[in-house]
Amino acid sequence: MGKYIKKNLSNKFPTKDITKDDKLNKLPISTSKKRKRIVKIGEGIVFGDKSIPIIAGPNGVENYKLMFETAKCLKKNKINIIRGHAYKPLTFPYRSNQYNETKDRGMDIMDSIKKEFKLKIVTEVTEISYLDRICDTADIIQIGSRNMQNLELLKECARTFKPIILKRHFGASLRDFLGAAEHILIEGNEKLILCERGVSIPHTHRDTSRFALDIQAIPALKELTNFPIISDPSHASFWAPWVPSLTLASIAAGCDGLIIEIHKNPKKSAVDPLQPLNFKQFSNLIQKSRLVAKSINRKI
Ligand code: PEP
Ligand code: MN
Repeated sequence: MGKYIKKNLSNKFPTKDITKDDKLNKLPISTSKKRKRIVKIGEGIVFGDKSIPIIAGPNGVENYKLMFETAKCLKKNKINIIRGHAYKPLTFPYRSNQYNETKDRGMDIMDSIKKEFKLKIVTEVTEISYLDRICDTADIIQIGSRNMQNLELLKECARTFKPIILKRHFGASLRDFLGAAEHILIEGNEKLILCERGVSIPHTHRDTSRFALDIQAIPALKELTNFPIISDPSHASFWAPWVPSLTLASIAAGCDGLIIEIHKNPKKSAVDPLQPLNFKQFSNLIQKSRLVAKSINRKI
């Protein structure tokens, strides 16, 4: 045993990923704690305050009927932000014959839904040339995890001065994540919402769990930044049965909002059919989420 004992072994705090020097010189805006940061989307819809706004909807804007049914479900649950991508990044270039990006037609569908239901719209931008059309309709633009360090895209999105959801790449450290955020902030757009959406670790690479939700990133990011942190349990777990637990855990961990993928008929979802909750499962989850939020003095 003796050979393992070291008299002067100290338990000094280990070096952190983000140093004091990083905060001062590389991440001055994202890590500044001088101001409270809230991102207001509309009357009573605020990220970074006591409330926890929910963003829900299918993966893609498949057709008008799906978005109409989804909007009705959101209204019933008093949820104000609908999501759906008209332009879609895919992991592989191949697609089933039932799936096609709806692109500009999808944005027109979102536009009708916005007007009919008075919902706020979140949609993803994959390409600078789509930005103009997206900005005509979207209330928040999403930069997907695969584009987290697409620096030209970040810059152009920032310059629209729309609120932005920046998703953490599944292999990115918090240092790189905040570095990407800084590219947006330096343009003067401070309407930034950061999203944890699961990280890639070797043993999660199975069909049912491609990523692991980094719950710990929520309090860790809160220590580093005042910008709102939201969680996307759907893209993290890739597996609908786990989404409710991960949603409740995210609320308990202090998230400032959630993205939840839902579909009227998940099995028929054009992409990622294992991932969305059906409308009934979603309504149940919202009820439970409200209870957990209330127990920590927050509100959904
Ligand atoms: C999405 O939100 O539909 C999406 C593709 O997310 P991510 O970029 O996190 O994979
Ligand atoms: Mn998706």
